Parts: sequence; C-alpha cells; structure tokens
Amino acid sequence: AAQGDLEWKKGPCRFCGVGCGILVGIKDGKAVAVKGDPRSKVNKGLLCVKGYHQTMCIQSKDRLTHALVKKNGTYVKTPLDEALDLVASKMKETIEKHGKDSVAMYTSGQSTIPEGYVASKLMKGAIGTNNLDCNARLCMASAVAGFLTTFGADEPMGCYEDIEHADYFITWGNNMAEMHPVLFSRMLEQKQRRGAKIVDFATRTTRSSTASDRSILFEPQTDLAVANAICYEIIENGWMNKSFVEKHCNFTKGLTNIGYGLEDKFAFKDKATPIDFEAYREFLQDYTPEKVAKYSKVSVQDIKYLAAIYGDPNKKVVSYWCMGMNQHTRGTWMNNLVYNIHLLTGKISQPGNGPFSLTGQPSACGTAREVGTFTHKLPKGVVTNEKHRRLAAKIWKVPYERIPAKPTYHTTEMFRAVDRGDIKFIWTQVTNPLVSLPKTSRYRPALEKESCFVVVSDVFPTPTSDVADVILPASWHIEKSGIYGNSERRTQHWDQMIEGPGETTPDAWMTIEVAKRMGFGDLFPYSRENHVEEIYEEYIQFHEGKKHGMAPLKALKRKSGVIWPYVEGKSTLWRFNAEYDPACDNGKAFHFYGKPDGKAVIWQRPFEPAPEKPDAEYPFWLNTGRVVEHWHTGSMTRRIPVLHQAMPNAYIELHPDDAMDYGISNGDMVKVISKRGACTMPASINERGLPTKGQVFAPFFDEELMINDVTLDAFCPISKEPDFKKCAVKIEKV
Ligand code: SF4
Repeated sequence: AAQGDLEWKKGPCRFCGVGCGILVGIKDGKAVAVKGDPRSKVNKGLLCVKGYHQTMCIQSKDRLTHALVKKNGTYVKTPLDEALDLVASKMKETIEKHGKDSVAMYTSGQSTIPEGYVASKLMKGAIGTNNLDCNARLCMASAVAGFLTTFGADEPMGCYEDIEHADYFITWGNNMAEMHPVLFSRMLEQKQRRGAKIVDFATRTTRSSTASDRSILFEPQTDLAVANAICYEIIENGWMNKSFVEKHCNFTKGLTNIGYGLEDKFAFKDKATPIDFEAYREFLQDYTPEKVAKYSKVSVQDIKYLAAIYGDPNKKVVSYWCMGMNQHTRGTWMNNLVYNIHLLTGKISQPGNGPFSLTGQPSACGTAREVGTFTHKLPKGVVTNEKHRRLAAKIWKVPYERIPAKPTYHTTEMFRAVDRGDIKFIWTQVTNPLVSLPKTSRYRPALEKESCFVVVSDVFPTPTSDVADVILPASWHIEKSGIYGNSERRTQHWDQMIEGPGETTPDAWMTIEVAKRMGFGDLFPYSRENHVEEIYEEYIQFHEGKKHGMAPLKALKRKSGVIWPYVEGKSTLWRFNAEYDPACDNGKAFHFYGKPDGKAVIWQRPFEPAPEKPDAEYPFWLNTGRVVEHWHTGSMTRRIPVLHQAMPNAYIELHPDDAMDYGISNGDMVKVISKRGACTMPASINERGLPTKGQVFAPFFDEELMINDVTLDAFCPISKEPDFKKCAVKIEKV
C-alpha cells in the first residue's frame, strides 16, 4: 500500500528491552508496515531487523486461534469459555485437594504491566500463594539483587541520554551489536561524531568486539577477579574519589563459599557485615593485576588500561551489561563489583557517568520488576515486609493475612517442584520454558508427567504447548492494548491496533475470567473494553511519590513513553543526584535514598570458581546466547520468513584450531555433550562469532536444536538466576 493510504498507530516494539518506538501502518484492519517512530527518544526513527519485520508473524498459518483441550491424547478445538471453565475448575479442585501451594503461574518479562498485575493479584491476593515467578528470573534477577544490595532500590539510575555524554562505553560480557542493536548504533554515532570510545570486555569475539576500539578477552568466571583488580588499581593509584566515598558509601562484606544451588530445596541467606576502608583495601591485595592476569588470561597491561579509564577524572564512563554478568553463578556479586568501580570513582548518577544494566525483554523492568511477578515480590516491595503486605492488601481489598509472608519457588525450584510432584497445576503465559530453561533434559519429562495439569497461553504452538493439557489462544502485542516498561525506566502505552483472529484474547482478560470463575469476581471488577486502563490506574497507587511515581495514563497516551519517577509532569533522568532527582532530600549532592542511611554499599566480593569447569573428559566451556535475527526461543521470529531465511538454524561456533584438531569443517554436524544431555548441530567456523580456543558457543533460539538440554541448572544463590554461560562439554564429529 502507498504510505498515504495507511493509518499509522504508535506503540513500543514487541521484542527487546531497548524499547524502541514503532509506528504500525494499518490498512483494511491489517498491519501491513512498520517503521521507527521519529518522535521516540529511544530510537529516533531507527529500528533493527527484528523491529521492522515484527508484524509478519501474526498471520502465520499455525497461529493458535482457538482453545485446544487435550482429550485422550488428542487436542480438541474447544470454545474459549469452556476451556476457561476447565482451567478454573482444575485450579480450584487442585487447591481444595492439595493446598494453595500446589498451583503455580509462570509468566514473563514479555507480559504487559496489566497482565503481570492481574497474575500477581490472582495468586497472591486472591488465592493466597506466592507460587508466581517469571522468565525474567532467567535474565534480570541478578541485576535486581545487585541494585537492591548496593543501592536498596531497583533499576538503573541513568538513562539512554548517557550515550550522548560519555567518553567511554565499557561493555561487560555484552554483545550489544546483536542484542541491543539500536542502542549500539547510538554509541557508534557518538564514536563517529566526537570520538567516544567503545571497549568490549568479553569471553568471545563478536560483532560488538569488531566494532569496538579495543577488545579484551577473559577466561569465563574471572570477570569477578578482574573487577576487583580494577578496584585495586583505582585505590593504589590514588584515583579514588575520596570525598564522594566518604560522604556517600559504606563498606560491607557478605558470606563466601555460598554454593551453586545444584541440589533441590537449596536455601541461602546472605549476611552483611560492615567493614572499614582499610579492611577492604587489605582484601584487594589478593587482586593485584599481576596475580589476576595469571588466571583471567587478561594481561597486566589490559587490566591497568581498564582501570585507568575508570580512574581518569576527566573521562566520563558508562558500563553496560546484560546476560554475561547476570546469568552467572555469582551474578549478584558481579553487579556489586561494577557498582564498586563507579562508586569508588564517584562516576555515577551523572550524564555520561554510570553503571547501566540493560534488560533483555521488553517489559522485564515494567512488569517483572515493577509489578513484581516474582515469588518474593509485591507491586511495591516484598512479601516478607509487613508494611508492603498491608499496602497490597489495602489496594487489592483482601484480608492482610491472606498474602503469605514467605516466598516459595523461584523459577528453577518451581520446575523442580513440578518434577517432584509438589506442584500439580501450572499455567504459563507468554513464555516457552521447555526451550528457555537450563537443563531442559530434566524439566521436559517433569512437565510431561500426569501428576501436573499444564495450561499454556501462547500465540503459536511451542515445545511447551506440546505438553499442555489446555492451550489458550493469546492475542499478539498489537491485537490488544498494553503497557511495557523498558531498560531506562520508560513506561510506554499503546492502544489496540487490529483485531486478532478467532477467539484470541489478551492474557490479562483470560486471567480475569479464570479469577471470576474461581469466585473472585469482586476483586476483578474490570471491563473487557477498558481493563488495561482500569488496571493501570489501580496499579499506580502502589508507586506514588517522588521516588517511584508513575505517569498518569493521559501522559502515557500523549507521549512516546515517560521515565519514572514522574514528578510534577517531568521524567527523572538521573536518580540519586540532587541536581536532577527531586526525591534527594539529605542536603548533599547525592542521596542513595534506597538505603536507610542514604549511602550506597561497596561490597567485598571475592572471585570464586564456576561449579563446573572443563576437564580431561569434558574439555570445552559451553557458552549460550542469542543472535540479532531471533527473539529468544524463536517462536515468533522463526515464523517471520525474512528472519528465518537469514538465520534458519542454530549452530555450534568453534575456534578454528579446535575445529582442525577434531577434523571438523564448517557445516559438519557436531554432537555437543555434557553430563546432562546432548545436542547435534552444524559447525560454524570463522562466521559470525569467534570463541577463544577451548570454548564453544551456541544460540538457543532453535527448538529443533535445543542446546538447553546440555546446559547446567546452577544459579546465583542470592538472585537465583541460572548460569547459561558456563558449563563443561565435549564435542564429537558426527
Ligand atoms: Fe525492537 Fe530491540 Fe530492535 Fe529496538 S533494538 S527494534 S526494541 S528488537
């Protein structure tokens, strides 16, 4: 259609946490074009390859358009009302027979804010169980735990405008060229325009490395030691910002040798012990560049180079990271350590200076973290805090005693509980755990067991819906109204743009319908037409005030996104800095008000090895991740012909020397084997990425070549986020 024939409607992109603004061209009730929204402050009219083609999957022939109920091993097309009756009655019956904690919901950082909110209200407020967790546990939990332990408040203090101010971008285990491509292009623009520098610190060479000014490689897991060595250099060279540290920081140490969560029902609680600066300095003596260079494989010169960038008082530095640091058995520690660097130098909460944790999913911040679809969370605060439970009970109009004070299952433990038979009903929404969980070789048979009734809401069939007892047909992104929150605390609303096919229905509305059928109708008094707006108005009561105030709906509708805290009609771009943040009220230049004394914490966190390392039998490190063409488990992007053709299948990336040792050529089939399972995939040598010798890499988007059958379900004991980046494997040419 000619551009002039189209009606253009605004919204955020369906895919990553960058949160680009899109304009969708509608003609005759169909989405026929997508372009970047030039008004968006995130992307200024640009999109990546996924963004431009996103609507091309909607019409896919195998779209789930009606509910399907499994009868005698066969899926039978069923009226949605009837399927929802069945879901509600099964959930109710399971609770009556086995108790509240026998039912669970597993949702997503791709759920909208209203979807996450009603899931939390149903589970915690109506039923009275904390059996709610989401796939953001697999990507952002370590970032959350890092923010809370260091600052007492979640989410980045800065915003994307930092890019226009920074002299250096240091990326920690983060292939932004493929994972956050539009932000990376903003960085490249600054590199070209005014000579800003990009330093890539990673375990393999990627497209980001080749576009950087300097690429520094490290041995997996030793980022902990290198970060400590940078702190050592900053202090010993006199680069510490003493006045900032004295006024705004405390020193603390936590427990060490904290395990890896490999056994079921693993329990851990950290203990913080205050220490003084001299004790911290003493601790760092084990992390001289010379000592760390020996096991990190980073040269002394490179460690000193990184430290000197952070230590230069005339250079502004932003650190970016995402899964490399978060999917880490010491992910919380790694987040703490990068904060240490910025706190020691006082390079924080100022334009162009700051640590910036990027999110993977489009609403990992808005839904998973702010609404709080985690077992321990409430829309404001945590279930363990009586004040927070009382506030939730008041807004939800439920008895305070109904909200349990103890968290139950985080993601890995939730699927272990399914395997053990402790969870007998699970409802997944907007997520595909049988491709995305680590060690799917254990959790697929677990979900197949008769002992658990499985409900899956999705847009397309997936390996997870293949094991469901009921499949519910979900609306796609633009077939419903919604609200997302991106990496920079930006909340973005969109109105429904087109009608979905068949009986497709927004997840929020299906949850509400089930709640009503279970007898909780009085708690869910929303209308079908306006439920998104009505839920949002209720939800923002949780976040009033200067520290987390959310924009009113009319501001969201008018603008292409608004950053919280939204105070007196303005977004707060840099938190904790009195110049920009109206919540600072301690009379000082900075106020880390998430902590009772207003001071951030510099944590003493040591290097500890990974739980599984290469050995004589399994001589390679396996790293997993994503590619620019595909969104997570590929259920949408593999149905977009142009993206599928560009990247039709997963592969195993090898270093050319390793390939030669094994007689493997490009395209040969290679079996990757761990103690847990195996996956056979074609070899990729000297193509997109280059692992260092002794390492292999595979993307996880391909449900036909499932690398997560091979990965390990060890996790960070504080955040409970699994480590998808490190386990030991062997390879065989097939
Ligand atoms: Fe969408 Fe992310 Fe690409 Fe932007 S960078 S267009 S948000 S996938």
